[in-house]
Amino acid sequence: MQALVKTEKGVGHLALMEMPEPKPGTGEVLIEIHASGICGTDVHVKHDRFPYWPPVILGHEFAGEIVDLGPGCRHYQTGDRVVGEPHTRHCGQCYLCRTGNVQICAQKRSPGWGIHGSMARYLVMPEQLLHRIPDTMDFDTAAVVEPAANAVHDVYERAGLVPGDFVVVLGPGPVGLLAGLAALAGGARHVVMVGAAADEGLRLGKARDLGFPTVLNVAEDDVAAAVMDLSGGVGADLVIECSGASAASAATPKLVRKKGRICAIGLTGGATVDFPWQEAAFKVADVYFCLSTSYTSWDRTIHLIAGGQIPAEKVITHRLPLAEWEKGFEALETQQALKVILHP
Ligand SMILES: [Zn+2]
Ligand SMILES: [Zn+2]
Repeated sequence: MQALVKTEKGVGHLALMEMPEPKPGTGEVLIEIHASGICGTDVHVKHDRFPYWPPVILGHEFAGEIVDLGPGCRHYQTGDRVVGEPHTRHCGQCYLCRTGNVQICAQKRSPGWGIHGSMARYLVMPEQLLHRIPDTMDFDTAAVVEPAANAVHDVYERAGLVPGDFVVVLGPGPVGLLAGLAALAGGARHVVMVGAAADEGLRLGKARDLGFPTVLNVAEDDVAAAVMDLSGGVGADLVIECSGASAASAATPKLVRKKGRICAIGLTGGATVDFPWQEAAFKVADVYFCLSTSYTSWDRTIHLIAGGQIPAEKVITHRLPLAEWEKGFEALETQQALKVILHP
């Protein structure tokens, strides 16, 4: 089968090549992939900025149909339409696994970097990590369940969004937009979406199209003054940092209210952040660091997308055949795209 493979260590080394079709082992299913989103992680693997074990097929944001069952499968059947948590190879024995946090098990090796991923015709997955999608949900939309489940986990389960919250989102990329949509779906009374000069055009344009009540550009607007003004001089109940930019992380204490919450989603790529610790201390702020998705966030996300409360499919800007993967990566890296869906 044709697959997009990171062939060896180093920058670049991506190639579309012929790979053997996988066979499902015990408790595993074979999924025919209908849609596979390109994630920031895939771009990081391309640029050698994330751990990976080459040669490895990229991709972990997938949706497809089960076409074969390995021995011992009991919960799924061929023909089931599914998405799946990318928490393969978690050990099942460590403190984190046994407390229901398989997503941050140190042994985890996900499809797309640790083991073969979904940018190919077929993917093998353990059935215990799957979730069914409703017949009404198309595969492209379903491929956005994974990043949307990140937003749902981070905003609801980690940072504890409460209806009526005043929310600021920094970084209007796919995850920031999904976090903002999750905040609206969860009853936020106001969401301020904040971008930088480079976001003007596609990202901030999309934020306006999606109907966020306030959309600001740090190059032109005094964000702190606007947030204070809009929140009646109190500050935000919840600030969600999705940009990964040091300056944005450093700005969060200025935007949050006293005893407010900061939800830290964006990764800085290893850069040290000059964070105003004392300002945050005087705000008595709670900071929630976030990584990956919980079991409980998946079905909730599927229902919220299927019900239209989180219109996750609206972050899709490109749909391409797998053969045109280069176009998709380039569009992402030059910020001409939000979510790119590849069709193997
Ligand atoms: Zn992802
Ligand atoms: Zn474990």
